[in-house]
Amino acid sequence: MPISSINPATGEVLQTFDSLNEHQLEEKIARAAEAFHEHRRTSFAERAERMMRAAEILESEKKSFARTMTLEMGKPINAAVQEAEKCAWVCRYYAENAERHLGDEIVETNATKSFVRYQPLGVVLAVMPWNFPFWHVFRFAAPALMVGNVGLLKHASNVPQCALAIEDIFHRAGFMEGAFQTLLAGSDVVEKILEDPRVAAATLTGSEPAGRSVASIAGKQIKKTVLELGGSDPFIVMPSANFEEAVSTAVKARTINNGQSCIAAKRFIIHDGIYDRFEKEFVDAMKRLRVGNPIEESTDVGPLATERILKDLEDQVKVSVAAGAKILTGGQRMKFDGELSRGHFYEPTVLADIPKDSPAFRDELFGPVASLFRVSSLDEAIELANVTTFGLGSAAWTNDESERDRFINELEAGSVFINGMVASDPRLPFGGVKHSGYGRELAEFGIREFMNIKTVWMK
Ligand code: NAP
Repeated sequence: MPISSINPATGEVLQTFDSLNEHQLEEKIARAAEAFHEHRRTSFAERAERMMRAAEILESEKKSFARTMTLEMGKPINAAVQEAEKCAWVCRYYAENAERHLGDEIVETNATKSFVRYQPLGVVLAVMPWNFPFWHVFRFAAPALMVGNVGLLKHASNVPQCALAIEDIFHRAGFMEGAFQTLLAGSDVVEKILEDPRVAAATLTGSEPAGRSVASIAGKQIKKTVLELGGSDPFIVMPSANFEEAVSTAVKARTINNGQSCIAAKRFIIHDGIYDRFEKEFVDAMKRLRVGNPIEESTDVGPLATERILKDLEDQVKVSVAAGAKILTGGQRMKFDGELSRGHFYEPTVLADIPKDSPAFRDELFGPVASLFRVSSLDEAIELANVTTFGLGSAAWTNDESERDRFINELEAGSVFINGMVASDPRLPFGGVKHSGYGRELAEFGIREFMNIKTVWMK
């Protein structure tokens, strides 16, 4: 089946590509396996030099990469430029720190000398989503290549141009043929690749069903996986918080990337003492957002990435409303001058009075739809925050020390941000608990995921 690049703001088909055939896939896997034997023997210094070059390419051509991202998946152009810059940052971070994270670790035992040595595993398959089409790939690829692993990228089918651009960056940066390859293919090839003995491990960033599938196939093959899955992050505001800052951050945290971020704040849990004021100011700010073509710098919120995502979101809101949720603003496909667009636009939306058995309570809403909840105590806030099956990020706004400590200790999530918005940073580990996945990316935790942690004991 051909793979198409479609502009979600206009519906225009930008380019189509043939999927890899079996023979081409076999060639790519063989090339990756060969490349591993050479690449793993290069020094940290050589790999760091290439990674620094990748960072330079990303930075010097950021506008062009940003355009590719925006045209292919609809993220606002300024955010796309920042995404390219962040990729340069993660390349530099691992170029500068990989060797330090992976030095031999001496352990005193009954041996004359005993230590831990980190060694690469081999070919790692990366199954990646379209929502941060550069960042998710680079946060995997920079540490993977720095440790001597090689990468095969199965990117989301709607971002083939991004996938090819990333392969080209590593090639131009000087990484050897086969060290990082893009496989233009649908998700049906994943099983075959994972069953191939030349492939050592896999990482998947994406939805829960995709994660379950990859984990079970890899499990049968006894292959290591890292899963970065969905989230329905809570954003809790208590009366002692800086109110204005909490409101403006809440709007940004919900609508970043047109609402399509795993760590976007999705459930706003507001203390009774400030709820009414919060609801009013939050709704007013959501109404003020400029929705439009993401290629224009003035746009705050662009289209959803595909018609399917728009339809899913529309259905989730309809079912939630039919169950009793109230729409405070939005709730429809976006019209421009009274007309529906060919793009996949949805109005920034706020829901309240959300019943327990509705999608807005239970599921991840992947678009600019915020769910508001009123609570009367800290205990209730924590209980509601933890009620979902997800556990990716969480944010809590308070200036009370004892409340802060309880949030840090009791929120069931891979991260807790106090008085701030959840965001990833190369220096800090990133990942989830519960159905949001397992394993960590970034920092020294991420770089050690696909390694043989070898014990060495000498008499
Ligand atoms: P998705 O449908 O799961 O797709 C992600 C990737 O998995 C794509 O490359 C897709 O390929 C592939 N895929 C889909 N089904 C598969 C299967 N059964 N077996 C193997 N591969 C499969 O997810 P999405 O809609 O692109 O992304 C949105 C989801 O990702 C949200 O739930 C979001 O929260 C999550 N996410 C999590 C993180 C994190 O760091 N935790 C970051 C970003 C996004 P095709 O495109 O060819 O179908």
